[in-house]
Amino acid sequence: MAKEPRSSRRERPPRPAAGGLKPRRAGPAPAPGDDPLPAPLRAGITPIHDALLGWFTRVGRDLPWRRGIDPYRTWISEVMLQQTQVDRVVDFFRRFMERFPTVERLAEAPEADVLRAWEGLGYYRRARQLHAAAKRIVADHEGRLPDTAPELRELPGIGRYTAGAIASIAFGRPEPIVEANSRRVLARLVAHAAPLDGTAGDGPIWEIATALLPSRSAGQWNQALMDLGATICTPRSPLCSRCPLAPYCLALVTGQTASIPGSTARREVIDLEETAVVVRRGAKVLVVRRGAGEWWEGLWDFPRLPAKEILAPLGCGRRRVVGRCSYTVTHHRVEVTVAVCEASRQGPRCDGAAWIDWEALGTLAMTAPGRRIAALAERGEGESGRGGARSSRPRRG
Ligand code: SF4
Repeated sequence: MAKEPRSSRRERPPRPAAGGLKPRRAGPAPAPGDDPLPAPLRAGITPIHDALLGWFTRVGRDLPWRRGIDPYRTWISEVMLQQTQVDRVVDFFRRFMERFPTVERLAEAPEADVLRAWEGLGYYRRARQLHAAAKRIVADHEGRLPDTAPELRELPGIGRYTAGAIASIAFGRPEPIVEANSRRVLARLVAHAAPLDGTAGDGPIWEIATALLPSRSAGQWNQALMDLGATICTPRSPLCSRCPLAPYCLALVTGQTASIPGSTARREVIDLEETAVVVRRGAKVLVVRRGAGEWWEGLWDFPRLPAKEILAPLGCGRRRVVGRCSYTVTHHRVEVTVAVCEASRQGPRCDGAAWIDWEALGTLAMTAPGRRIAALAERGEGESGRGGARSSRPRRG
């Protein structure tokens, strides 16, 4: 697909066709049975379809999962895109496909391998559910993804959006989608000024998405909405002069492009502090697995103080602080102090804890903070163990 041409000239927005409208403010949602589309959009629905689908044909993004539609590839890409920007997903998608080219290969892989391949994408629950769904597809559907949205939604990790995306894009079903980009485009197109909080606030947007859906080319339409939101109808300063929907856009004609979608109250950021301990014993290092309900559940990391039940039996020597790092997860900002120490005993076996070779850390499915902690420990050990000289290798006990 061709790239969107760039222009340094300031263009005038196309003249809106929906003149004479007053700004629509947040108000009661349409009653059941009401047409969720304002009259000017209902009247122009065919030209709207033609405008957006024509634009998508000309300038839709060329993405690896769009080259030759394959339900498995569509599914993987949609799950990766749930919480991650397209630019970041592209490389992960290629690597994941090389590692797990078919649903059978994904289903038969150990979970640890799937989590390792997912490392860096975050939200590891997605990877676990993807893996569980692959097993179900192989066991119950002969290795083929179901081709309807209701059946897809019975699989782990597939909600209304993902089911609609797979059903429409891979199977041509007339299913709508609502995600961050299309939500913004649809809200502006109909001048839906109420805040969108992603749950209750999405109800009217799903109705609008359903009402606007073309009976054919639903997959193209859905992808076009997402592309338009990502490249033209951006959160701030939308490029209305280049938008194929400008002649129909009620937010544009009523001067509300800056205020729609309405903002919701941001959650307050919570600051936390923790101390991670990198416990060495010769060439081994102690790692712990994040438990059920914890962030990064199932991934490996280093113990955090106090962790008495793990650390007390090990006869650890003096702890030495080697650095600090920070990470953000959900609405928490966490500052981590990183300390290293030597254990004099291996200690008893402990559920969720293991001694592994330092050299094997790279093969472990590990949390993002865990990787940074390991790097700090390695650097700190190298510096102190050789009179301050930097070393790429940790000191052996
Ligand atoms: S880019 Fe502008 S004209 Fe196009 S849908 Fe968004 S707000 Fe409306």
